[in-house]
Amino acid sequence: MKINEIFYSLQGEGYNTGTPAIFVRFSGCNLRCPFCDTDYSKGKEMEETEIAAEVAKFPASLVVLTGGEPAAHVTASLVELLHAEGKTIAIETNGTQTLPKNINWITLSPKDMFLGKKAAPVLSEADEIKIVYDGETDMQEQIKKYEHINVKHRFIQPCDTGNATKNAEIIQHTIAFCKQHPEWRLSLQTHKILNIK
Ligand code: SF4
Repeated sequence: MKINEIFYSLQGEGYNTGTPAIFVRFSGCNLRCPFCDTDYSKGKEMEETEIAAEVAKFPASLVVLTGGEPAAHVTASLVELLHAEGKTIAIETNGTQTLPKNINWITLSPKDMFLGKKAAPVLSEADEIKIVYDGETDMQEQIKKYEHINVKHRFIQPCDTGNATKNAEIIQHTIAFCKQHPEWRLSLQTHKILNIK
């Protein structure tokens, strides 16, 4: 498996914000979002047992499989190995591919609003859905596309465009959206605000 990095930090986004977690970042993604901050080129091949051994060095129980697109790589045997280390497994996925069984927490972050039908999620359920808002997508229309997906928690997260003025505008629109649609909550990239990894 090609691994971009394994590191220990706090979950910065969504329902588990603030929770200490070990991040396993897989290299590569089947999509190409315009704002993606993942470096696809870097990574080293690791055996599943090596990944589990590296993860076991950290005291937190939560492991976040992220990317890139972890669904393109993660296997049932890796899930088993991580469980054997006593870990709880979360995954952050664009939802375009099916997942192995027994993942404890699924964060679905669809990207079809940026890339069209080829990025439409195929998952029918998730623990949380997290939508990135770029200030341009008609979110009212967009959320209708996910009504059939069974989710426990709904988050909308302002896109970091790299432009402070534009970001401030997007945040205001995102807050207004949450107030109009109270079943949706604001998710912030707190790791960026705190300047942690
Ligand atoms: S789905 Fe995620 S990892 Fe893949 S290109 Fe989009 S933002 Fe990057």
